[in-house]
Amino acid sequence: SDQTVAVLVPGRIHPRVLERLNQACEVVQVPAGPVTEIDPAVRERIRGVAISGALDNGWMESLPNLQIVSNFGVGYDGVDTKKAVEHDIIVTHTPDVLNDEVADTTIALLLNTVRQFPRAEIYLRERRWKSEGPYPLTPLSLKGRKVGILGLGRIGIEIAKRLEPFKVEIGYHTRSRRDDVSYTYYSSLKEMAEAVDTLISIVPGTAATHKIFTSEIFAALGANGVFINVGRGTSVDEDALAAALRDGTIAAAGLDVFYDEPNVPAALLEFPNACLLPHVASASIPTRNAMADLVVDNLIGWFRDKTVISPVPETPVKG
Ligand code: NDP
Repeated sequence: SDQTVAVLVPGRIHPRVLERLNQACEVVQVPAGPVTEIDPAVRERIRGVAISGALDNGWMESLPNLQIVSNFGVGYDGVDTKKAVEHDIIVTHTPDVLNDEVADTTIALLLNTVRQFPRAEIYLRERRWKSEGPYPLTPLSLKGRKVGILGLGRIGIEIAKRLEPFKVEIGYHTRSRRDDVSYTYYSSLKEMAEAVDTLISIVPGTAATHKIFTSEIFAALGANGVFINVGRGTSVDEDALAAALRDGTIAAAGLDVFYDEPNVPAALLEFPNACLLPHVASASIPTRNAMADLVVDNLIGWFRDKTVISPVPETPVKG
């Protein structure tokens, strides 16, 4: 174990990250949120950060020997990559190891939203099957739907492949068209929303995707419309979504992510046509273990011989 290297861990992180880091180097745990006072000698030793969630910029500004920020999760909207570039800090994330889990969850959320299976189970558990008879028929069905996927990256493509056996029509929108797929390409989100009855969002949370799901998009999706979001909650104008669900502009929504987690708008909690999950798309023990290993392997590889497995594109690795 290299006791001359310290890794800072602000806030909570998967226990396997801490276990493995403790075997390799010194670990400095601090509360989540803004920079706190730490011993100057310790501060000098900190060369890495392991983070799950938001990293305060103050850490990148105040740790003189910080070289790498290893982000738990493929989405790294909690880390300011511009700030990292300014300070010559590499940012890594955990792509690919979660693709299958997240794509599987997306299909489950889509079916649950369309066919109301979670509500049907609650109905059974409340003994209403016996007292009131069969659960009401669901107005919606997956059969014959036209699905538009926003984002056809590592996860989006896995969602598309899983949709094929369901015999739905599949299309997508991304800024750059892919030439290796035969799915229908739409040149804008608006155009796609007009053409399909089911939208699945699996784009990152960036300035360009901020609140792109507007009342205009929901109106274009239409009364039979189903909106599924497993990307980032920041992509959605939640007031517009709540209004669209309330007044029948769209039929239903299935959400794993929210604008200001863990705060879920009270309106959404009331609607029977909203199917809600607490950001669990990748949350199985095997997948989270694989993500934890990648967080640690990026750090250890960097300290050992300046190799990182999965840097983000914004921070070039000079080695
Ligand atoms: P990728 O980078 O592989 O794919 C992102 C896709 O989104 C690309 O097809 C990209 O295409 C497209 N995209 C990006 N910006 C825009 C834009 N402004 N307009 C249209 N399309 C856009 O990422 P992953 O598939 O690995 O992950 C996607 C995101 O999913 C993560 O960043 C994360 O936020 C979220 N996620 C959520 C999870 C959960 O628990 N709910 C779990 C895992 C991931 P192009 O650049 O050509 O536009």
